[in-house]
Amino acid sequence: MERDVVCLVDGNKHLYDRGAYLWTLRPSIVNRIRRDYPKARNQDFICFEHLLPYQVEMIQSMMRSDEKQIDKLNRKLTRTMEDQEYRVTDVNETLKETQTFGQKIADRVAEIAGSWGFIIFYIIVLVGWIVINGLHVFGITFDPYPFILLNLFLSCIAALQAPVIMMSQNRAAYRDRMSSENDYHINLKTEEELRILHAKMDHLMQHQFDHNLEIQAMIFEILSEIRITQKK
Ligand SMILES: [Zn+2]
Repeated sequence: MERDVVCLVDGNKHLYDRGAYLWTLRPSIVNRIRRDYPKARNQDFICFEHLLPYQVEMIQSMMRSDEKQIDKLNRKLTRTMEDQEYRVTDVNETLKETQTFGQKIADRVAEIAGSWGFIIFYIIVLVGWIVINGLHVFGITFDPYPFILLNLFLSCIAALQAPVIMMSQNRAAYRDRMSSENDYHINLKTEEELRILHAKMDHLMQHQFDHNLEIQAMIFEILSEIRITQKK
């Protein structure tokens, strides 16, 4: 039979449709065959029976490499989420923990002094003082016009109030700074996570998808080869 060809693996003779020439195969499979048979040339022939293990090996290695890649990305994602470098803290909780007794009082005083209730109370006391001493209501005058004692009290209150309010404002500024720093870290972390997710998506879309198609194509090839081999 002049159509007989020789398999490069064991030298047995086959019909030319019971195998394939190397130049018709995928380069990745040819490389695997050359790894075992370095002398194999492109016009050499391999029977389906000996070709099958290389095809299976090829499919398995593609699946393994996909798994490995996804694993790598997942590990990276987990590491980022656990990374202490992105110090995400509860600002209010931290502030409460570091607050001293004096600061607590300063906050409370600033809160009260900045309310309408306090302003109205202040006006009532002032007007009452002036009316009692100016018009001699109840027949007593403990601070006659021009109300020097009242002036003294007002100066004292003003002198105390200013630093207390400033203390409270410093606290507020500190809290703002902390919370904006926190936001910055959260943004950084989110960005990094997004970046890795993108890489994962890209990998899935570009490589995994292509690999799946290629694997399916190879399985169809193997199926048709099996059918040809059984057709004696
Ligand atoms: Zn063979």
